[in-house]
Amino acid sequence: MIISKKKPAEEIIQALEGETKVIVVGCGECATVTQTGGEKEVAEMKAILEEAGKKVLATDVVHTGCAELDVKRVLRQHKEAVKDTEAFVVLSCGAGTQAVRAATDKHVIPGTDPLFLGNIRRSMDFIEKCSHCGACVIDEYGAICPVTRCAKGLLNGPCGGTDHGKCEVDPEMDCAWVLIHEQLKKEGREDKRTRIHGPKEWNVIRRPGELAEAREKVGAAKSGGE
Ligand code: SF4
Ligand code: SF4
Repeated sequence: MIISKKKPAEEIIQALEGETKVIVVGCGECATVTQTGGEKEVAEMKAILEEAGKKVLATDVVHTGCAELDVKRVLRQHKEAVKDTEAFVVLSCGAGTQAVRAATDKHVIPGTDPLFLGNIRRSMDFIEKCSHCGACVIDEYGAICPVTRCAKGLLNGPCGGTDHGKCEVDPEMDCAWVLIHEQLKKEGREDKRTRIHGPKEWNVIRRPGELAEAREKVGAAKSGGE
């Protein structure tokens, strides 16, 4: 799930300077769970914009904000408003905002700041555990990712700063490397605890990633081209 936080309303209003007519679009998946772009937040944004003197021509929450065909289909249902509007405020991650971008040539404004790919621990409690690095190596680490969960991304650890199981970068945070050693001990995989890991291959991922049935560009750098 993509974890986002709301952008300050003043920032959005400032981005709309000189424009009056607006459509607000939300997302029924991640932005709804993170309470940044569901039905409630879209209604709140409408009220904020109206209070600021804007005319909200339409609002909608796309089931999956990053599904480009879905976004186009929903916007077609607001054909007249889409024709009239000067701008869109999108309450979803940047993928959803750019799905709206793909559906219109008008001014598109992101209404959230996307933060990370997060696991949901409980309601409104998220934690980053994977950086989608393109080649998962966590079997070597007790299925705890050092790339993401160690503040320094160390592939061999812990560093000298670990203190009673906590991280020197943030004493509130568990040291990922203590967790890794404890986990490997539980599994009886002592050999993994003492093994020195070489550098990770970073060239297996590239931006922008693309993956489709007919063509695969992820990993193109590694294989030397498309
Ligand atoms: S190694 Fe870590 S960052 Fe890379 S894919 Fe695996 S869990 Fe994600
Ligand atoms: S204390 Fe642990 S989690 Fe923090 S940087 Fe060092 S090894 Fe990584």
